[in-house]
Amino acid sequence: MGSIQIDGRQISYHVKAGRSVKYTYLKFTADLELDVVLPYESDIDVEALLKKKRAWIARKYAELSNRKCVFDGTSIIYKGRYYDLHVVPPENGTNIEIQKDKIIISTKDFSDPLSSLKEWMTAATTELLTRELPRYAHRFKITLGDVVVRNIKRWGYCSKTGALVFTWELIALPDRLAEYVMLHELAHLSEFNHSRKFWTKLASMCPDFRERQQALNNFCTSASADLNTSDLISPDCVM
Ligand SMILES: [Zn+2]
Repeated sequence: MGSIQIDGRQISYHVKAGRSVKYTYLKFTADLELDVVLPYESDIDVEALLKKKRAWIARKYAELSNRKCVFDGTSIIYKGRYYDLHVVPPENGTNIEIQKDKIIISTKDFSDPLSSLKEWMTAATTELLTRELPRYAHRFKITLGDVVVRNIKRWGYCSKTGALVFTWELIALPDRLAEYVMLHELAHLSEFNHSRKFWTKLASMCPDFRERQQALNNFCTSASADLNTSDLISPDCVM
């Protein structure tokens, strides 16, 4: 038995010999310890293996602990999908692109590639809000005021002065959950509190809001990252 540190969390692992002569399996137990099943009679360097698979381990850990954090150190959620982050030297200036299941950041500033990523996501979130909010406001006859994108722990809120504030991480959510956050905050422009009237208003704009709110609870902004391991399912993860 050993343990590895990933994103500040200590994860215990147990090494076992499998029956297969070929395959290595990584599998989380229900109490979030990692089983490392090696091929029969192999001499695999387990530490090196776990180091190589740290992105997968971090992601799986977050998934199984039922909290999907936008950013976990090695991977990021973008429009509801997980991507591994890769930082490469720049060809010309800072550039970020999506390639299959990877987001490639090429930046001169190796010490802080995340600030480039944050800028990129801020722009994508701003674009989403600029495109969608006026459309919803028009449709539901709500007068839209200022819209602000900031580094906040929550997905969004409505200020007393009627400004709608959203996290730059909003673009990480699957479309329908980002839409729910926008509709929820818009509804606050007609009903500020979470009163009965507010929920009635929201239901008229988004009939399945309860279901979407529940799905949203499984995601957390990286600004509020806090793993909740109380609600575990029994995993079976093979790589
Ligand atoms: Zn609210």
